Amino acid sequence: MRSDLRCFYILYAARYIQAAVTVLLEPKRKDFLEMMVHHIVTIGVVYVSYFCGWNRVGVVVMVLLDPADVPLHLAKLCKYTSEALEMNIWQFFADRLFEFFAVLFFVTRLVMFGYVCWSAHIESEQYFHLDYAAKLCVLLLYLLMVLQLYWFGLILKVAMKLLRGQGAEDIRSDDEDEDPKLPMIYTVSQKKRPLNQQTGTACNARCQDECFLAYSEPYTFTDLLYDLAPWPWESLAVTMMGNQVPALRLGNQLSTQRVCIVARAHPGETCASWVMRGVMDFLLSDPEAQACLEQLAWLIVPMLNPDGVAAGRTRTNLESVDLNRHHHDDAAAETKGLRAALQAESQRGELLAFIDIHSHSKRRGIFAIANGNDADRLVSLLANRTPLLDLQGTNRTETRPQDVGVGRVAAAAQGYKYSLTIESSLCARHLAIGGEHLLLQDLASVGRAICFAVTDLLYPENEPVEVICAKGDDDLDEDADAAEDEGFRVFTPE
Ligand SMILES: [Zn+2]
Repeated sequence: MRSDLRCFYILYAARYIQAAVTVLLEPKRKDFLEMMVHHIVTIGVVYVSYFCGWNRVGVVVMVLLDPADVPLHLAKLCKYTSEALEMNIWQFFADRLFEFFAVLFFVTRLVMFGYVCWSAHIESEQYFHLDYAAKLCVLLLYLLMVLQLYWFGLILKVAMKLLRGQGAEDIRSDDEDEDPKLPMIYTVSQKKRPLNQQTGTACNARCQDECFLAYSEPYTFTDLLYDLAPWPWESLAVTMMGNQVPALRLGNQLSTQRVCIVARAHPGETCASWVMRGVMDFLLSDPEAQACLEQLAWLIVPMLNPDGVAAGRTRTNLESVDLNRHHHDDAAAETKGLRAALQAESQRGELLAFIDIHSHSKRRGIFAIANGNDADRLVSLLANRTPLLDLQGTNRTETRPQDVGVGRVAAAAQGYKYSLTIESSLCARHLAIGGEHLLLQDLASVGRAICFAVTDLLYPENEPVEVICAKGDDDLDEDADAAEDEGFRVFTPE
């Protein structure tokens, strides 16, 4: 044997031994067994042909088995590039290379390799008698032929998909995509969806994906930062996790009438954020908010407890402090920062209204909790602005000593004339207007109504104010009808 041929043999054997070891180290694919057999049989052919002097057969087999791999790997490269860059041109190249691969595979591995098998088995008998080693070599060649037929079957499957216009996929790669350790996580995000769409999104979840079902739409700290991104906001405090507690100052900051609206002291109460989103959408971008902005100075604190929200807590911040029990002390940086901001507000004018938005997990509908009868005027103004407020269900609790740290109690102690907690149910509307689930536009419309009701405080001569409902919202129109039946006066804007 020539020394360069011997060198080729040694290199080829080394490559297949390396490949056999690699198959053991890689994640298992569908054709793991076939690949192992392929490598072991190929190494067998190389060794048997080398030691028995069947060098011609060995070399021809070695030359025939590899060329088709070149367009195959190039096609994979193009496919991965198309996925990374999302450019169709790379998928086009991938498909053409795959077609070339399929033809080359058929010619080299089925037709030409098939001829080698026939020649080694049948044709060779005309020239010499096959000994045991030669028969073993022929047997290994036939084994390789069976494997080529199996792979060609897989290639035909991909080719069929390609003909149906679905693009070339590496069928053998399926197992890689379905790694159970890396499930797809589906969340329903509101970021790019207008509020007037139904919640609930159908998704094509696969069996190994993880799906989270929530009976109230999530609103994350990231969602808030996204919503706040176009607007200048300030930070009231830095939390244990290093998050900022964002606050917006809106309206006429020279006004002597100061209003503060807070939400998400309790992180699990996501409905509160949708009411707050209604407040922000209205004040930031609705022309009808003009009067509200001219008359009042608004301090909006959309998420008092960003740590709790980010960490998925239901009631406390990361230091296990229930913020709505510690508005009066220094137990939490969040409430301490808010209290300092309210203190500064009191230097700038009269503290008119403080509204702390929560969600109730047991009671239905949207209702208020007031300190005794102190805020009754604001409650009735709010009821005039939205039929969604459950006026009858509103609590007027006498302030007890243990309530000193509750937001509305602490704010009243700081001087706010009208101080309320607004509870938005995590599920159904109150009975008087039907039992349907509260929709996001319902919650947002209450935020808008809160802004109107607070402004109505400045105009005692306007009472009673007409009930207002969300613009162009059929659901709410029906609610307004129901409310009208109950004796509310209803006004639907154009
Ligand atoms: Zn709460």
